[in-house]
Amino acid sequence: MEFHRIDAPGRINLEEISPEPPEEVKKHEAKARFDVLNDELFGLQDLMWGARTHSVLMVLQGRDAAGKDGAVKHVVGALNPRGVRVTSFGVPSEKEKRHDFLWRIHQHTPGAGEVAIFNRSHYEDVLVVRVNKLAPRPIWKERYRLINAFEETLVSGNCIVLKYFLHITEEEQKERLLEREKEPTDAWKLNVEDWRERDQWDEFTAANEDAIGKCASKRAPWFVVPANAKWYRNLVIAESLAAALRPFRKQWRKTLDETGKIGRRDLKEWRAAHGET
Ligand code: AMP
Ligand code: MG
Repeated sequence: MEFHRIDAPGRINLEEISPEPPEEVKKHEAKARFDVLNDELFGLQDLMWGARTHSVLMVLQGRDAAGKDGAVKHVVGALNPRGVRVTSFGVPSEKEKRHDFLWRIHQHTPGAGEVAIFNRSHYEDVLVVRVNKLAPRPIWKERYRLINAFEETLVSGNCIVLKYFLHITEEEQKERLLEREKEPTDAWKLNVEDWRERDQWDEFTAANEDAIGKCASKRAPWFVVPANAKWYRNLVIAESLAAALRPFRKQWRKTLDETGKIGRRDLKEWRAAHGET
C-alpha cells in the first residue's frame, strides 16, 4: 500500500494530496485488511513490550473533527492496553505556561516497550500558537528547529516516531460539525472555537504545511492521511504502523529468545543447587 510518507524536509502543498480514498481501494477490502493488520500489530506490540529495547510515539494532528479521537480508538483497539498510553494536549495550564513548550510533552513520551499516542502535541506550538498569534513570530519560528532536535533525542533513545496529519476537506469538516449538533450523544463535543477556526482555514493550512515540511525526516517521518473516509484513515494508520514495526520483528524475537534462555539456565542452576529435578 502506498501512502503519503514525508521523510525529508521540503515544501508541502496539501492541495496536491487528495483527502479521499483512492478509487481502487474498496471499503470492504479495506476492512478485511484492517482486521489482519490488527492481529499483526498486536503480535508486534507484544514482542516490543517483552524486548524493552524500543518504544513508539504516534503523534496525531489534524483540524477539529478530522478524526483524531476516532484514530485513537481504532489504533488502541488493535493493541494490548497494558502497553499503551494516550495523552491529549489542550490549552496549556498556568503551570505549563511557566515552562518551555516541550516540558509538558516530554513527560508523556513512551518508555521502553511502550506505545504512546498523542492527540495533539508539541506541534500545536507552531500551529494554533502561530495562527492565533499566541507567541511572537521569532519565538514560534525557532520552534521547528527545537522540535526537530527534540524528536531526534527521542529517536536516539530508540523511540520510533511517527507523525500523522489527518487530512480532510473544508466541506467534510462542516458536515461533521453539523452532524455533531444533530446527534444528541455527540453534542458534548460542540465548541464555537471549531467554527471560528474555520475562518482561518488557509492560515491553518499554511501552518500545517510548514510543520510537516520543516519537521519531516527519515527518522521522524510525517504521514499525510487522506481522512475524509474514516475506514481509509484507519487503514492507512494501521498499515504505516505495521510497516514501521515489522523490520524489528526478528530483532525483538531474538532478544526474547535470549532472555528465555537465561531464564531457563538460571532455573536449571537453581534446581541443581537445591537438589530438585
Ligand atoms: P480539543 O482537541 O478539541 O479537545 O481542543 C484542544 C484545544 O487546545 C485546541 O483548540 C487546541 O488548539 C488547544 N491547544 C492545544 N495545545 C495548545 C497550545 N500549546 N497552545 C494553545 N492552545 C493549544
Ligand atoms: Mg476542538
